[in-house]
Amino acid sequence: MSRVCIIGAGAAGCFCALLLRRQCPSLQVDVYEAGRRALAKVAITGGGRCNLTNTFQGIRSLKEAYPRGERLVHRAFCQFDHQALMRWFEGEGVKLVVQEDECVFPQSQDAMQIVHTLLHGMERAGVALHLDHRVEAVEHLSDGYQVRFAAGQAPVRADAVVVTTGGSPRAEGLSFLAPLQLDLVTPVPSLFSFNIAGLSEWMGMVADNVSVALAGTKFRAQGALLITHWGMSGPAILKLSSYAARHLAEVGYRAQLVVDWLADVGEEEARSLLADLQQSQPAKQIGNTHLPQVSSRFWQALLHRAGIRAEQRWQEVGRKQLNRLVSVLTADVYAIEGQSRHKEEFVTCGGVSLSNVNSSTLEVKTHPGLYLAGEVLDVDAITGGFNLQAAWSMAYVVAQQIIKGEGDKS
Ligand SMILES: Cc1cc2nc3c(=O)[nH]c(=O)nc-3n(C[C@H](O)[C@H](O)[C@H](O)COP(=O)(O)OP(=O)(O)OC[C@H]3O[C@@H](n4cnc5c(N)ncnc54)[C@H](O)[C@@H]3O)c2cc1C
Repeated sequence: MSRVCIIGAGAAGCFCALLLRRQCPSLQVDVYEAGRRALAKVAITGGGRCNLTNTFQGIRSLKEAYPRGERLVHRAFCQFDHQALMRWFEGEGVKLVVQEDECVFPQSQDAMQIVHTLLHGMERAGVALHLDHRVEAVEHLSDGYQVRFAAGQAPVRADAVVVTTGGSPRAEGLSFLAPLQLDLVTPVPSLFSFNIAGLSEWMGMVADNVSVALAGTKFRAQGALLITHWGMSGPAILKLSSYAARHLAEVGYRAQLVVDWLADVGEEEARSLLADLQQSQPAKQIGNTHLPQVSSRFWQALLHRAGIRAEQRWQEVGRKQLNRLVSVLTADVYAIEGQSRHKEEFVTCGGVSLSNVNSSTLEVKTHPGLYLAGEVLDVDAITGGFNLQAAWSMAYVVAQQIIKGEGDKS
């Protein structure tokens, strides 16, 4: 009987283990988890509701959702995509709901349902789960692999090893792979908020649709924006932090953020929209007549930023003030002074370089029988269920590959 050793009981590790034992009961499958609980991260995903995937409606190209690793996930999706995943969970009795924004959640709105489904499935299938087993090293021997543990537990031998240890914002988190001499891409955080001073009076304000960009770069994103205690967050900012994760790490999280509060209306059109307002209601106070693209609260705040009093009448607004208002509405510049991951979903940009693996099988090219799946690889996505979908799909690919190899042996 072949023995498969899976390192890390997260989304990818648990799903892979369950598929392996269900589809190939002759395999011995051991999962080694450093922590005291399996699937601890899945339990807190989506604010405890678990946004387990996305319908991908409205995603024009995978690169939009996966700034890193889109080709590899595309291949994995050819074998197991979001629809296959949804069918799989529904087959396990988990009812799912699709939100208006295309994010998919369990109908129970409880991530623990996903956790329990996987854990019960693993138990019934006969997966051996070993908690409190932090792997310290993986070594390739002439006849398989040896896995050693940090807490002095006896090392184990395996015919195949699947590394599913998730993202690690520090390179030390990957040190257990050192004996295998894999190429690593320095890990840096992705999906974070921007620290911007001077916005405390705006706290809690939400703009439904803005376009944000980093000055002097091609990085830009669109969506809702939220003013927080520390600065700016919300989908547009998180997406931009994902696209520019490595660039922002390189510049020490100091950059100029350009906000187009009208989301791509453009300077000329903004000017003509304002001219229309001015002409149609010259005697009205500017603070009481805002553009439909901007909420009344934001309008007041942006007028203040442009140095225009809300009580001023439209007919009193001169060309210079109008120019300032156009510039604040379409290219408002803020200084990013740092990043914040407080209570946020965050993922790792970087990890094991994709050049190490065969992108169709996820087997390490230089170490047959060694596989990688999930966030440990240099694959990560924007928010919306895309990160978990990548983990499920990659886990599926690895499981099928190991099962195929097992079939070829007999
Ligand atoms: C707060 C938060 C909310 C999130 N919400 C969502 C969401 O709603 N939707 C979404 O798609 N994504 C979400 N994500 C991202 C998503 O959780 C991850 O991308 C996904 O869990 C990655 O799966 P994985 O199996 O690769 O790694 P993980 O699920 O992180 O599992 C890795 C496991 O390996 C273990 N491990 C690490 N090193 C070792 C070692 N040396 N020895 C043994 N075990 C080890 C870890 O303890 C962990 O249990 C969220 C992330 C966070 C932080």
